[in-house]
Amino acid sequence: MNIRRIGAATAAAVMALGLTACGGSDGGDGGESFKVGIKFDQPGMGLKEGNEYTGFDVDVAKYVADKLGHSEDSIEWVQSPSGQRETLLETGQVDMIIATYSITDSRKEKVDFAGPYFIAGQDLLVRADDSSISGPEDLDGKRLCSVTGSTSAQNVQEEVPGVNLQEFGTYSECVSALVSNAVDALTTDDTILAGYAAQPQYEGKLKVVGNTFSEERYGIGIAKGKTEMCEQINEAITSMVDDGSWDAAVEENLGPADFTPGEGNPPTPDACA
Ligand code: GLU
Repeated sequence: MNIRRIGAATAAAVMALGLTACGGSDGGDGGESFKVGIKFDQPGMGLKEGNEYTGFDVDVAKYVADKLGHSEDSIEWVQSPSGQRETLLETGQVDMIIATYSITDSRKEKVDFAGPYFIAGQDLLVRADDSSISGPEDLDGKRLCSVTGSTSAQNVQEEVPGVNLQEFGTYSECVSALVSNAVDALTTDDTILAGYAAQPQYEGKLKVVGNTFSEERYGIGIAKGKTEMCEQINEAITSMVDDGSWDAAVEENLGPADFTPGEGNPPTPDACA
């Protein structure tokens, strides 16, 4: 590298630093940012479009953060793909995760959960003209897509050992594969599938089978040992349900996909460890 190049590189680095400082991951209020992990590609649950973040999980996050003393503009949204959630919490890259994140015993070995704040169920998404799949029992020999590190992939592998499972990093990649005929079905929570099926670009192309075969209790993931924070979050969830904000958030985010929460909703949070 010659001197001029080094100069340019340094200038670029300084500019990048400057942008970070001004761009303000702290939201510009001078305080520490509160880092919240969400999905970026799940319409109705957690979606990033430009600088806009929408979805039920996003609304729960804003409500809970506020009760914990973090204003909406101090939130830094961090993309949290299914297979990276425990690591993001363990390494402190996020303060909490609200990302269609099911409470499970094996995850509880690494992280703590507040909640549940929602109960979903695993279902299947297929092409609208496919009548050969009406439940997991029809998946033998079919090409099925799901996401690495999700309960969806794990459940279906246990339930249908004969399925040809292809695991991607995100559900939106699975949707593309389904539309282009590279797989026959996508499996994950009904909430997520309803959001994709309702996208204008997939109208008439995709359908949710509507035959759930698991119970997914969505928790709010936090670092292990943060019992006080867990209790504060549980209080926030309870007040979100009691003051009508939970219903309003369901209606606003899942209503457009005609999704109605199933049995057990709204749930009562578990006791914190
Ligand atoms: N709720 C399931 C899970 O936590 C599937 C959805 C997801 O991968 O986010 O694994």
